[in-house]
Amino acid sequence: MKIHEYQAKDLLKKYGINIPKGKKARDLEEALNIWEEMGGVPVIVKAQVHSGGRGRAGGVKLVGSKEEFITYISNLIGSRLYTEQTGDEGRPIDSVLIEESLDIKKEFYLGFTVDRKNACISMIVSAEGGVEIEKVAATSPDKVIVQNIEPLLGLRDFQISRTLLLAGIDLKYVRRISPIVKSLYRLFMDKDCSLAEINPLVITKEDEVFALDAKINFDDNALFRHPDIQSLRDLNQENPLEVEASKHNLNYIKLKGNVGCMVNGAGLAMATMDLIKFVGAEPANFLDVGGGATSKMIEEGLKILVSDSDVKVIFINIFGGILRCDTLARGVVDAAKQLNIQLPIIIRLEGTNVHEGRRILNDSGLTFTVAKDMGEAAAKVAQALEINRDKA
Ligand code: GDP
Ligand code: MN
Repeated sequence: MKIHEYQAKDLLKKYGINIPKGKKARDLEEALNIWEEMGGVPVIVKAQVHSGGRGRAGGVKLVGSKEEFITYISNLIGSRLYTEQTGDEGRPIDSVLIEESLDIKKEFYLGFTVDRKNACISMIVSAEGGVEIEKVAATSPDKVIVQNIEPLLGLRDFQISRTLLLAGIDLKYVRRISPIVKSLYRLFMDKDCSLAEINPLVITKEDEVFALDAKINFDDNALFRHPDIQSLRDLNQENPLEVEASKHNLNYIKLKGNVGCMVNGAGLAMATMDLIKFVGAEPANFLDVGGGATSKMIEEGLKILVSDSDVKVIFINIFGGILRCDTLARGVVDAAKQLNIQLPIIIRLEGTNVHEGRRILNDSGLTFTVAKDMGEAAAKVAQALEINRDKA
């Protein structure tokens, strides 16, 4: 789960990390009140969306006059921000964060992330923080220092100083930044984060240290033990179909292609997507109904697939284990009738009660294409999309 910058900064503050003075506004009136309170310009206005790269996309601005402030905020709130991370989907800007502007001397990068490759949490530091950090990481990776953290020992003090010094940070700042590193790590562990990032962490002309930006993501599987974090969720920032799916315990992720997939089990979902790509098509989504899916969940899943206008053909690939093939078949037939689905549906079934499942589909009076195996199913998907397999 992601949260907004202003929410992430509230958390930093609770952990004793210095943040600029600021407030969130949802409309121009609120914004003008804050502007008065803060004693007028210059201020920094920042679009609150679940995405990084806002600065480069025009979502962060230093405004120098009241007129500019009004124009910028009026244009920003209610519009969408398209960053390198959001792609064409963008994110709605429902609020802005208005902050005192600071005179920046130096911008650092500080982050903690779940490092899957090394099976640990890693600390990442760079003395070249700011909006170009991805470029720094790509062109001069030696300027980004990564410290793996031994899970049983936790982050040790010497590792903090060593990492900051290796990153080329001045000794006098190392002393100031070390407590921030410790606090951020504590927050990361306490709240089961998957990412906690301060970019930039700045030194001002007055030699003060501030977290100027904050991005914190949480492990969804641990959210049940953090009601305080759950309450920060902003559904407006998420894909509406993904939100709908999560209500029904369906694991759904929107993708860019046009083959709607319904699968049980994440492994089978991966294999299905590989197969779709192999025949030259692109999956429109990843929909895993899980092992114990009910007819109702299958119906809700199909509803989601057909309400995505990108979907041109539906591919149902099920291995009947706990979910029996006849249960699935009944769910699909009911849903197809009820939703009056006009799209081609290609089904591959295997496992428990497969014969009964196939019989229900064949006797339904609907035009499903029942394939005998995954290869045939994928070929039928390509056929339905009129993809020339020689070219694929
Ligand atoms: P991001 O692009 O989504 O990561 O947004 P950030 O919050 O990191 O803001 C982008 C950039 O705006 C920062 O890297 C800073 O260079 C600049 N910025 C943000 N706040 C201030 C400020 O108070 N003063 C100055 N001079 N620059 C700021
Ligand atoms: Mn940033």
